[in-house]
Amino acid sequence: MRIAVCPGSFDPVTYGHLDIVRRGANIFDKVIVAVLTNSKKQPLFTVEERLALLKEVTAELDNVEVDAFAGLLVDYMRQKQAKVLIKGLRAVSDFEYEMQMAAVNQKLDPEVETFFMMTNPRYSYLSSSIVKEIARYAAPVSDLVPPPVEQALKAKFAR
Ligand code: ADP
Repeated sequence: MRIAVCPGSFDPVTYGHLDIVRRGANIFDKVIVAVLTNSKKQPLFTVEERLALLKEVTAELDNVEVDAFAGLLVDYMRQKQAKVLIKGLRAVSDFEYEMQMAAVNQKLDPEVETFFMMTNPRYSYLSSSIVKEIARYAAPVSDLVPPPVEQALKAKFAR
């Protein structure tokens, strides 16, 4: 069975992420969406909130699982018997960082293959940070995130 891991902060999950997860799920037998819990970034949503939203919006994808991990990604992948790392590329600005990460992971575990997918052009500008910035000022985000995420953002910023 070919198991792929799609790691990220997902703070919160956007249509850009979902597009990559869906496409990955069409190619691999199983995709594990893995929420990084030891990020340096100060998140808006707790890990539990991010997991709950991811579970809700991927519920109809039968071969997609949602999980959280801490520590080294290659260690987590070994534990899950996953050999493929799925990443989305939006712009040239993603490229340098992703190339570095792919090289590091390859060095840490030569069996891990990083699999890049070009963003859907509809979402090439889309990031969780942009979504948070827009929602903070109560502007509509319905084209950028699924309805449960839109609701969760409203609730966060209503306080
Ligand atoms: P962000 O950069 O939005 O905070 P994450 O750290 O959660 O996102 O990203 C997880 C993965 O999802 C990364 O591989 C990133 O390149 C990919 N990704 C995020 N947004 C998009 C998008 N709009 N199109 C394609 N891939 C994306």
